[in-house]
Amino acid sequence: MVEVYNTIAGLRQVLKQRRQQGASVSFVPTMGFLHDGHLSLMRLARERGDVLVASIFVNPTQFAPGEDLEAYPRDLERDLALCQSVGVDIVFTPEPSQMYHPKASTTVTVAKVSQGLCGTSRPTHFQGVATVVTKLFNIVQPDVAVFGQKDYQQLAVIRRMVRDLDIPVEIVGGAIVREADGLAMSSRNVYLSETHRAQATALVGALRSTSAQVDGGQRSAEALLEHARGFIGRHAPAGRIDYVELVDPLELTPVVGDMGHGGAVMALAVFFGQTRLIDNMHLGAP
Ligand code: AMP
Repeated sequence: MVEVYNTIAGLRQVLKQRRQQGASVSFVPTMGFLHDGHLSLMRLARERGDVLVASIFVNPTQFAPGEDLEAYPRDLERDLALCQSVGVDIVFTPEPSQMYHPKASTTVTVAKVSQGLCGTSRPTHFQGVATVVTKLFNIVQPDVAVFGQKDYQQLAVIRRMVRDLDIPVEIVGGAIVREADGLAMSSRNVYLSETHRAQATALVGALRSTSAQVDGGQRSAEALLEHARGFIGRHAPAGRIDYVELVDPLELTPVVGDMGHGGAVMALAVFFGQTRLIDNMHLGAP
């Protein structure tokens, strides 16, 4: 059975024992309400460590006032059964009071890659993410941690942070898992009305259609962006574009003019009502 811990001390104690026995530790941090995207990361992590730890923690510091912190979907019983089904050994599910000292005043800020894209409309988000992931790394001390490419900017932020702060963990990126119609799986998809759910396939539609443009020889960033925005406008009239950008895969800086031969990442965020969906795709040769 999967073991569940909600205190830092309890988790540390069991992991210390396991490490003394020579076990390696792999780790998948999540906010719960698990779907196949999360489970694919857990399967990857299962292969990479003797003890597989998953965390389920809806981290308040990565939500801004007015975002969906209180409404964020939760179902711990179901999550634990899913964790069990993919071979998770330990679930860490702390209360916010366990994670944050009432007078906590230390944060982790990753400059540059945290800016632009989601960082523009969610200016405090990545500081919350970087801080909680640093804390989770210090608590779990994993050898390997797996994150999804679905949150492309988040993965870039974590990689940069681990590099810059010499955190001794290997970061692995897992491919985006999609619904049958292409919509990237997300815990937030449950918020979508029927109409919005149908139109939400325009995100991946725009990415695939733009990718086909690149394969057909189009190299102009401006033309590709116009194509993607036009696609969303036509196929998702109820959607409101937050951003559609073409960026350097590592630095996440905007590509201007010819996209060059290394390829680029198209990243986008679209609101349907209050629900904000994101997706991304690498375009052109890697
Ligand atoms: P979350 O619970 O949304 O914080 O996500 C936890 C982890 O799962 C993050 O590393 C996400 O990038 C990853 N993830 C979320 N959705 C997907 C998906 N559709 N495919 C692959 N990974 C995902």
